[in-house]
Amino acid sequence: MEIKRFFCDRIDGDKVILTGEEFHHCVKVTRHKAGFTIIVCIGDGYDYYAKIESVEKESLTAKIFRKEINKNEVSGSLIFFQGVCKELDFIVQKAVELGATRIVPFYSINTNISGIKQDRLQKIVREAAKQCGRARLPDICEPVNFDKAIEISRAAENRVLCYENCRGKTIKDAVAKNSHTLALFVGAEGGFTETEVAYAQEKGVQIVTLGKRILRAETAAVAAMTLGLAALGEL
Ligand code: SAH
Repeated sequence: MEIKRFFCDRIDGDKVILTGEEFHHCVKVTRHKAGFTIIVCIGDGYDYYAKIESVEKESLTAKIFRKEINKNEVSGSLIFFQGVCKELDFIVQKAVELGATRIVPFYSINTNISGIKQDRLQKIVREAAKQCGRARLPDICEPVNFDKAIEISRAAENRVLCYENCRGKTIKDAVAKNSHTLALFVGAEGGFTETEVAYAQEKGVQIVTLGKRILRAETAAVAAMTLGLAALGEL
């Protein structure tokens, strides 16, 4: 059986204690018992192999016997900016699976959804990271306004915004050779306004196409991240 992974905040020497939802998942859902091996991640890029020593009512203790660098993480960074939309849960799950290192939801002129459930998104991030074998939980912040999102994107060497009215330039064209960091923008169902696209461009963001057809936000998100990672040489 594949060794299951669990996230926790910290380890103490060679001991790790799982509590809360991760304890519940480990013992009640996947039915682990004393003597079973698990992988524990604390978000530092390593997989800690541990043997469960004891299972209590609300927690379990495991002893770490091996530490290995996790090889499933993107080596550079992919910061994914998504316009808040109905499919945000799905998109966040796919972003984690594909390897996004940071997820930034944003409000733009054509978004009419508010009240994002941050707790639920955090849970989706954790579950997806466990399922796809990651050792880091990508950071997902509260939604920011579009101009703030543009500002945050300055952390990346390459910055691209997917726009259905753009013709010609692809993500591959936009990403510089030998670069490692990419900020990628996909709009909500309502898309970007011309003013927003012009603003992004003025701030140094490149406008790119994902092809001739208009994709739904969730399709665009998956396609854009895949193409972005390919352009960075991360596939
Ligand atoms: N509301 C717009 C489409 C929005 S699609 C309309 O109906 O015309 C949602 C988002 O997906 C867009 O903001 C864009 O970021 C991305 N997208 C969809 N199709 C695209 C394409 N062919 N090229 C680039 N981006 C695209």
